[in-house]
Amino acid sequence: MNIGQRPGLELVPAYKQGRAAKVVSQHSYKLSSNENPYEPLASVKAALERELGQINLYPDISAKALIQRLADRFSVSPENIALGAGSVEVASQLIHAVAGPGDEVIFAWRSFEAYPSLVRIAGAVPVEVPLDPEARHDLTMMADAVTSKTRLIFICNPNNPTGTTVSTDELDVFLTKVPANVLVVIDEAYLHFNLDPTTAVGIDFYRRYPNIAVLHTFSKAYGLAGLRLGYAIADPEVIGNLRKVAVPFAVTSLAQAAGIASLDAEHELQERIDQLTKNRSALIEQLKRAGLHVGPSEGNFVWAATGPDTLRISAYLEGAGVTVRAFPGEGMRISVGTPEATAAAVAAIELALAEDDRSAAALM
Ligand SMILES: *Cc1c(COP(=O)(O)O)cnc(C)c1O
Repeated sequence: MNIGQRPGLELVPAYKQGRAAKVVSQHSYKLSSNENPYEPLASVKAALERELGQINLYPDISAKALIQRLADRFSVSPENIALGAGSVEVASQLIHAVAGPGDEVIFAWRSFEAYPSLVRIAGAVPVEVPLDPEARHDLTMMADAVTSKTRLIFICNPNNPTGTTVSTDELDVFLTKVPANVLVVIDEAYLHFNLDPTTAVGIDFYRRYPNIAVLHTFSKAYGLAGLRLGYAIADPEVIGNLRKVAVPFAVTSLAQAAGIASLDAEHELQERIDQLTKNRSALIEQLKRAGLHVGPSEGNFVWAATGPDTLRISAYLEGAGVTVRAFPGEGMRISVGTPEATAAAVAAIELALAEDDRSAAALM
């Protein structure tokens, strides 16, 4: 075939989904996509069942009921909110709304893997600013990277995959250096798992700076990854432009119903979030005890700087039915799952490190 492709498409990497876990002796733990390990709430399933009888009809394109609930929840107006099929889609809309060919979009690296491709797909140029030695956003370098072509800056807070955060003070200093016509997007996919009180809170910044957009998702803490629902909170002008570039009807009636049911069940969801942050502390402590270099994390995942050992250790995990996200030569991101998943992951890592000790001893 010789259909050809749009110029520049060769620069777009295909998105890699977190690998499925291999089933080993009856169990498998997929700790590669930061998914919520708990099954959907009964009330959310009931809301979906009620909605099923009407899936012959198009969804409400304005998603009036859900948007009003979110507006009340955050004390903003419905004109401040745009929904999408997952916050990845909303991130894409934000880029398409402000950046075109040749424009620049700045983000930290390593960060969320979707950013580089979303930027390229819009024809814009990704500008990746390395994380500092503590795997945190280097906001000084990011401010220095701003040029007259910069249209948008992503701040991933907490950062995927390193779990580090940007503080209120740091973000304030940063914003004094960023021109007011550059949109700063605070991607808070892991907001609910963040227990660090010094962290910048996106919605507070939005109230103080008109060039801030906040991204939230129902995929992680609220466990609706399979339904695809996320949203932005921003200035009405930005939101109006987002709606223009959105694909119509991308947010299904099922997703809208589940979103409302989840907002009705925030207390119940909070119990799960509390459980997951406890599981996170246990995972970090046990990984450190096993001998891995693990920093603090405010997401539902932890980052282990396994360097050149990454693929060897992840192969051990795979053999034990545990799949993680491995970045060869750098480290691995391990999602926080149930205590059983933690036990399986830690046992496999202990085996991998013991093997390492044995081969080191054999070399001496
Ligand atoms: C998981 C994730 C998202 C969102 O995912 P959706 O399922 O598309 O809502 C957005 N940003 C970051 C940093 C993530 O890790």
